[in-house]
Amino acid sequence: MMTTKDSVSTRAISAGRPTILLVEDEPDIASVMRLNLERAGLTVEWAGSGEEALERLEQPGIDLVLLDVILPGVDGHGVCQQIRSNDETKSIPVIMVTSLTEESDMIVGLGLGADDYIRKPFSGPELVARAKAAIRRGRNKGRSTDESELLTLGELQVNNARHACTIAGEQVPLTMAEYRLLYFLMVNPESAFTRQELLPHVVGEGVYVIDRNIDVHVRNLRKKIGPYAVCIVTVRGIGYRFDANNFAG
Ligand code: CA
Repeated sequence: MMTTKDSVSTRAISAGRPTILLVEDEPDIASVMRLNLERAGLTVEWAGSGEEALERLEQPGIDLVLLDVILPGVDGHGVCQQIRSNDETKSIPVIMVTSLTEESDMIVGLGLGADDYIRKPFSGPELVARAKAAIRRGRNKGRSTDESELLTLGELQVNNARHACTIAGEQVPLTMAEYRLLYFLMVNPESAFTRQELLPHVVGEGVYVIDRNIDVHVRNLRKKIGPYAVCIVTVRGIGYRFDANNFAG
């Protein structure tokens, strides 16, 4: 059966290994940073450009963005601005990383909503300490909102504070649209919704262009959630509904 747990137990269950998106165009620097963070028990995903980072952020599951300022194409300030202007990503902590020594760059970054600033060269322990502090602050921030809830069905967990979906502890790589669709159907179980009704809950008001075809998102979502796909029921002549009873466990 599906249950909604309070936010404190949610955190206890889902804390897991925090995932950092490391945005750095220089591979040597990236690999040193990665090594330090991974040794400290953090999971690191690397993006070599601002564009790549923004693409990764279309999917959930990132707890912190470590963002180099000087990047080819969209620079760190541009990426930070986009993170903050999108509802889906605006609460993710951001630490700007730079070799620039100018105070003005720091002020620009903080003005754009960066949570912290770290200057190259920095020590491994300093990087880890700042990263962990930012993740902790980010998680505490999420705890106070009513969005931090966990939906559970069998081994399927949907953590709305992190916008993450896991099956047996493994992250399911949902797009933001698929995540929103699943979450909306799960919190409104056993009512059928038309495609028209679902659309605003799936597309949202983010800056990213998302396919407006609900059927495509449903098909892809069903594929990704495997044995739980039976819970997303097609209602002929109407649309879709979520029925937890269809999952036999
Ligand atoms: Ca750089």
